[in-house]
Amino acid sequence: MPVPRKVIIIGSGPAGFTAAIYAARANLSPLMFIGSQWGGQLMLTTLVENYPGFVDGIDGPPLMEVFRKQAERFDTEIVGEDVTAVDFRTRPFRITAGDVTYEALSVIIATGASSKLLGLPSEKALMGRGVSTCATCDGFFFKDKNIMVVGGGDSAMEEALYLARLGRKVEVVHRRDALRASKIMQERAFKNPKIEFLWNSAVEDVLDVAKGMVTGVRLRNLQSDEVTARPVDGLFVAIGHLPNTQLFRGQIELLPNDYVKVAPGATRTSVPGVFAAGDVQDYTYRQAVTAAGTGSMAALEAERYLEAHP
Ligand code: NAP
Repeated sequence: MPVPRKVIIIGSGPAGFTAAIYAARANLSPLMFIGSQWGGQLMLTTLVENYPGFVDGIDGPPLMEVFRKQAERFDTEIVGEDVTAVDFRTRPFRITAGDVTYEALSVIIATGASSKLLGLPSEKALMGRGVSTCATCDGFFFKDKNIMVVGGGDSAMEEALYLARLGRKVEVVHRRDALRASKIMQERAFKNPKIEFLWNSAVEDVLDVAKGMVTGVRLRNLQSDEVTARPVDGLFVAIGHLPNTQLFRGQIELLPNDYVKVAPGATRTSVPGVFAAGDVQDYTYRQAVTAAGTGSMAALEAERYLEAHP
């Protein structure tokens, strides 16, 4: 087996690449698993206008190209494979991708989270073209438009309240007749004159794939089974997120909601030498810039850990 790496980074969103840039500049020669589908959630968005440093905004995929080039400039070794197993019970830690097992003295987990989706082919086809999973990212494009939000939890209320500041009208579609959201968020949404609720309803199809833009949805009333077409300009799916932590189950402590548990205000996990950055440990902010911030924290913490455990 080759010599153990000082740092192995798993994941390739803003957290992973920022960790790589910091670790590489600290002479830790990071090895980074970017996965077969690299780049994280920003690869699914169009214009990003809230990432500092880009006056006119930048599309998600070219932004991730910039992150990647910067990490490569400092000699981050990039492996385009998916990690299939980890073993954090042995020292050095073991990380396996396919048939090859690597060893590392420290590991930074930056595998992110995935938005839950409705699973409709039209939703996939129109993602970034009127379908979105992030109001703070894409809401601006729907100024004075009719917007629909799917979901009945705090995320859906938060998205609806945010979008109500921009759009003409926001319709919240929920599959039951009672919200799951906290009382305070419910009250805020109910009080907002721009927000309307469509209860016991499910989006069955997003229109219009042929036009390459959202023009409406087909909505099924789950009680009467009646299907109606409703015109909307944008559809925000806010039915929750799933942290990408399946690989780490049983290896590090996870929270009851499956996110990685880290020390308050830090990126240390329950296993000394293993750090977690970005959305995999953040169910509150979930922003590219906060992910990048915790990526730098993880690299700095890994550097200190390696100094203390040479
Ligand atoms: P959540 O609480 O799990 O709510 C998901 C919502 O989406 C539920 O209403 C659920 O319906 C609905 N849903 C799930 N799958 C669906 C599907 N396939 N089709 C249609 N609807 C579907 O998730 P969340 O809202 O993202 O919140 C996650 C956690 O973060 C919660 O603990 C929440 O309190 C917290 N959070 C807090 C804030 C805040 O306080 N500002 C903001 C965001 C999130 P059912 O109700 O029928 O299950």
